[in-house]
Amino acid sequence: MSEPLLSVESVYRSFGGVFAVRGVDLTVAPGELRGVIGPNGAGKSTLFSLIGGQLAADRGTVTFAGDRIDRLPAHRRAHLGIAIVFQGARIFRGMTALENVMVGAHATTRAGFLRGTLRLPPHYREEREIRQRAREALGRVGLADWADRAAEALPLGQQRALQVARALCGRPRLLLLDEPAAGLRAAEREALAQLIEELKAGGLTMIKIEHDVAFVTRLADRVTVLDLGRVIAEGTPAEIRADPAVVAAYLGT
Ligand code: ADP
Ligand code: MG
Repeated sequence: MSEPLLSVESVYRSFGGVFAVRGVDLTVAPGELRGVIGPNGAGKSTLFSLIGGQLAADRGTVTFAGDRIDRLPAHRRAHLGIAIVFQGARIFRGMTALENVMVGAHATTRAGFLRGTLRLPPHYREEREIRQRAREALGRVGLADWADRAAEALPLGQQRALQVARALCGRPRLLLLDEPAAGLRAAEREALAQLIEELKAGGLTMIKIEHDVAFVTRLADRVTVLDLGRVIAEGTPAEIRADPAVVAAYLGT
């Protein structure tokens, strides 16, 4: 087996003495699409924040491409190639689709936000490169024609694709998607599933949290099931659907 791209070992995180994540192990191979499911409050989103660095782990290690990253701040992890589309992420209103994506690229380049805040003159070559990358990212998610239109005019499914484009603009090696299909209509979910399949075919490694078991098991190579902050099952989609512990903890509820 090849070296994993991501390795989470015995990670814990509590809030006010209550453990949201209690001893999770997760190993993801390069090119894999991993599904993560579990009831509300299982610790799925917290796990993503522990990988992305938005939250620090109380205990445990996170290794990415061979390097320990669990003490690094989120922006350093983004630089290394970890991108997250957060649960319920909103677009920036009053900006075009292209500008929305560029904001994502700025977040992963050194010059980015700080310069904007300090109102320093832009470094034009870098700005041009970011614009170019943002256009490419929009193209990858099928929104090339929307570049200069107001982001809030996009239907919800395409706004979700826009979030993906924003994450892709930083050229990640690992993309974390937290309930990307939530609230979408059937046709929009289908389009999103197709986009994810294309990204996978392009070799991108992804972890996708879903509430909808059918959706996650259809796309994923392997599925990890969380309940009460612990991994209660892991396997192929078929194994997961047949697992009595999963049925009891999740499918039965
Ligand atoms: P999931 O994404 O699986 O629904 P979460 O990771 O969002 O679960 O939450 C897991 C548990 O941790 C829940 O009980 C939630 O209330 C708690 N939790 C998550 N984030 C925080 C926070 N920032 N402060 C306090 N409690 C939190
Ligand atoms: Mg969540």
